[in-house]
Amino acid sequence: QQVDMITLSEETIATFQGAYDRNISFDKRHEKLLVNGNPNQLQQVVYILIDNALKYSNDEIKIVIDERNNEAIFQVTDYGQGIPEKEQERIFDRFYRMDKARSRDTGGTGLGLAIANTITDAHNGRLFVTSNVGEGSTFTLTLPLD
Ligand code: ATP
Repeated sequence: QQVDMITLSEETIATFQGAYDRNISFDKRHEKLLVNGNPNQLQQVVYILIDNALKYSNDEIKIVIDERNNEAIFQVTDYGQGIPEKEQERIFDRFYRMDKARSRDTGGTGLGLAIANTITDAHNGRLFVTSNVGEGSTFTLTLPLD
C-alpha cells in the first residue's frame, strides 16, 4: 500500500500537539513522499520516535523529512539527556532501558524502539541514532521510496 510519509507525520504530530503543550517544529522539504507499506505500522514507528523525543527532553523537538538516494528520510532531534555511545546499540533491544530512564517516574517497558526496529526491517528501511550525552539525540528512519 502507498503511504505518504508527509501526511502520516503531520497527523501524528497533530495528535501530540493536541495532547501536550510542547514545541514540535516540522520541516518538510517536499509536498509528498510516497513509500510502500503498512500505514498503521509506519505510523507506530513515527509515534514511538516522537514520543521518546518528548519523554527524554524538555525543550523543543525538531522533525525533518527529506528525500535522498531514492529514500524517504524521517528525522527526530531532541535536546535532552542524550545516549552514551555504549548504549546506542542496546536501546533497540527488547525491554532494554537505560539506568536513568529506569528510575524515571514516567514508566515505560523498553519495547518501543524494539517494535520500531522490527517494523522498519519489515519495510526494508533503516533506523539508527546519533547522540551526544548532555546535548541530545537524533533518530533517523529511512524507507525506500515507492
Ligand atoms: P516504552 O516501551 O514505553 O517506549 P521506553 O521509552 O523505555 O519505554 P524504548 O522506546 O524502547 O523504551 O527506549 C529504550 C530506551 O532508550 C529508553 O528507556 C531510554 O533509556 C532510551 N531512549 C530512547 N529514546 C531516547 C531519547 N530520545 N533520548 C534519550 N534516551 C532515549
